[in-house]
Amino acid sequence: MDYRISRRDFFKIAGTVAAGSVVAPLKSAADLPDQSASMPTRPFGKTGVNVPILSFGGSLHLPMLMLRNAYLRGITYWDTASSYMGGNSEKRIGKYFEKFPQDRKKIFLVTKSHAWSTAGMTDDLTRSLERMKTDYVDLYFVHSVRSIEELNEDIKIWAEKTKAAGRIRFFGFSTHSNMEECLREAPNLGWIDGIMMSYNFRLMHTDRMRRAVDACVKAGIGLTAMKTQGGGSIRTSSETELDLAGRFLQQGYTDAQAKLKAVWENQAIASICSEMPNMTILMANVSAALNRTKISTQDMRLLRRYALETNSGYCSGCARICESAIDRKIPISDVMRCLMYWRSYGDRERAARLFFEIPLKERRHMAACDYTQAEIQCPQQMAIGNLMHTAIKEFGPISDSKL
Ligand code: SF4
Repeated sequence: MDYRISRRDFFKIAGTVAAGSVVAPLKSAADLPDQSASMPTRPFGKTGVNVPILSFGGSLHLPMLMLRNAYLRGITYWDTASSYMGGNSEKRIGKYFEKFPQDRKKIFLVTKSHAWSTAGMTDDLTRSLERMKTDYVDLYFVHSVRSIEELNEDIKIWAEKTKAAGRIRFFGFSTHSNMEECLREAPNLGWIDGIMMSYNFRLMHTDRMRRAVDACVKAGIGLTAMKTQGGGSIRTSSETELDLAGRFLQQGYTDAQAKLKAVWENQAIASICSEMPNMTILMANVSAALNRTKISTQDMRLLRRYALETNSGYCSGCARICESAIDRKIPISDVMRCLMYWRSYGDRERAARLFFEIPLKERRHMAACDYTQAEIQCPQQMAIGNLMHTAIKEFGPISDSKL
């Protein structure tokens, strides 16, 4: 069957599919019917908790109506962090629980700390609980781990004590960099309940990732996938992209929904954490979660081909490779992530915020660094030097005095 369609037809069908997956706007949260029972769930490792396969990522403004919609559609796993929106993400969740206190026990609530010390984690957790108007979180993450060595004995003791005090139920970490190593080595610790990692149609097929996921499954560690769109939507700028997007649309779903389905194909992934900034995306994602049609082998093959053809535009987070090839301490993969938020997701504000979280000393070294060796080593053939300078130009200033 020939799935090729013209650019004009592509946009016509895309409009129909998008419209078909969105309900009419609702006037108030009270109008919503409870559809939560139909959302599929999966066990989260060996925690004994079943979580919805779609979870709500909170690094954005969270209007009450969005949270209510998420809850009533069965998206009862909410993910936030003490740093998201300068604490406002947690505050919005707190407002929700003030209004709907009976929902707290039904939400699998996750937040994270970037503190890098147990005293800082205690402070962060206390603040998070106050903001979210709750006395416990279900899963507490160390935020953005790059190496398993960051999870030391002090953190283990902290996690055990905090669990015993009833302030957290489970403990783990999130990771965007060196994900495969972090996942592979986490079972050796023996005290990690859950991990949230970058995982998508680009990353899921490598042997390293497969082995890492298997190791976690064997150890009963619950896995949540994030960054599942793999750098943004298909742009229909080449024949392959047009063919692929057209093929999905003619089967009744968008390429964004197909990418979610590709991840759900792996039963080891308990949930996909998705940032759903508006009702259109929320309803499209819910519709993908409820639709039991499996993505075909041929479509999976096409997604892989698309991934291979567009590799050089996607940073796969293997930070140890490029960062060990330069003579300065510079978090190249974090800068690539800033660029992804800006260029692929159109979220410049978030990109700039993340850029300024990089210590000033490291930002100062960025402009003068020679990235030649990093580029040679990069498996994705990223134009690292150019990209670093683009980021500096876009998100500067670099120096203290200009901050
Ligand atoms: S820039 Fe290249 S080597 Fe560095 S993290 Fe990204 S893909 Fe890996």
